[in-house]
Amino acid sequence: MTSTLTDTRTLAAAPQPRDAPWGLYVHVPFCRRICPYCDFNVYARQEALVPAYLAAVARELALVAERWGRGPVATIYLGGGTPSLLEPAQVAALLDAIAGTFAVLPGAEVTLEANPETVDRAKLAGYRAAGVDRLSIGVQTLAPHGLKVLGRAHRPETPEQAFRAARAAGFANVNLDLIYGWPGQTREDWSRDLATVLAWEPEHLSLYALTIEPGTPYERGVRRGVLRPLDDDTVAELAETASETLAAHGYEQYELSNWARGRAYRSRHNQIYWRNGWYVGAGAGAHGYLGGVRTVNERLPASYIERVERGELPVVAAEPIDRRTEIVETMILGLRLVTDGISATAFRARHGAELAALYGDVLDELVALGLVEWDGETLRLSRRGLLLANEVALRFLEPRGTLG
Ligand code: SF4
Repeated sequence: MTSTLTDTRTLAAAPQPRDAPWGLYVHVPFCRRICPYCDFNVYARQEALVPAYLAAVARELALVAERWGRGPVATIYLGGGTPSLLEPAQVAALLDAIAGTFAVLPGAEVTLEANPETVDRAKLAGYRAAGVDRLSIGVQTLAPHGLKVLGRAHRPETPEQAFRAARAAGFANVNLDLIYGWPGQTREDWSRDLATVLAWEPEHLSLYALTIEPGTPYERGVRRGVLRPLDDDTVAELAETASETLAAHGYEQYELSNWARGRAYRSRHNQIYWRNGWYVGAGAGAHGYLGGVRTVNERLPASYIERVERGELPVVAAEPIDRRTEIVETMILGLRLVTDGISATAFRARHGAELAALYGDVLDELVALGLVEWDGETLRLSRRGLLLANEVALRFLEPRGTLG
């Protein structure tokens, strides 16, 4: 009985075994316009490049498979940027290319990120028919003044129309992204956003605190005093409101910023990242992690296309991850899994080392401070630790002893 329980927990807890199936991420770096807070690798008014870009992605995938093998692949994620600028036929061709190149497992999760103003029922039905089975809609906020300050292209009523269209098109697994902590947001704004989207009954919610990224127009606005971000205490209060409201509606917070209506609706793709697993990262600026090597691709779409057309992998940086770094990454990523946490059994299987031996003192101290829960098998953040997750993670940067 005990071993069955342990096995079940180990299956979902961090880290993943080395031979676990991969995730596959494709970056679509095109947006109609650039939101002032965004620091992703994105470009406006370059849609003319889309056909050549998609051909390059297919070619890059073949080069990746030649170099690293065919997977198997358990999850596919089309992220951006705005992947919903692609036509269904383009998504179908991309998924066909993936299936023709990698060993995609039956029942693989296939997610596409969509901006509400770019989709309607027919387009979404096309994505569904192409094989997309999970939709992630960028709602961000429904408050008119929030949409303005975030520079979003949609109107307050557009996200609900997109959500209803997704349901009508047959999507039974829908995530909604929301942002809180934007300048001028009140507690009432946030509670209203949460209540409204909860009434739609999505399967999954990702809630992110707005961060000020260097070099963005938003950061310049803050520096010049035009935009006034909310103070940390208010942002923490909004986070607390979200946790309480979502728990009351039956959503499980399984990751620091992610909630699901049951285990089946957790993002399988993102869990591969948090469990420090392998994934292909294809497209301009995409990051990959295969066979213990982290890679970063050429950022500019035109240069990316050029390199792939020459038959080269478009990688600009490749870093072999040594054992110590891999262990630290397992800890920092795995602590984000607030329900499943990190399993000592899975840790031993992946790293050939004892969690308790590497971090005994740190664990004792963090348990004494009430920041983590640790029973000798599972390590996870406590309720109090959730509020200080970054500080707790920093305590795991120095594993003890000699590591190769
Ligand atoms: S739509 Fe998304 S990816 Fe594009 S600029 Fe805005 S936040 Fe960035």
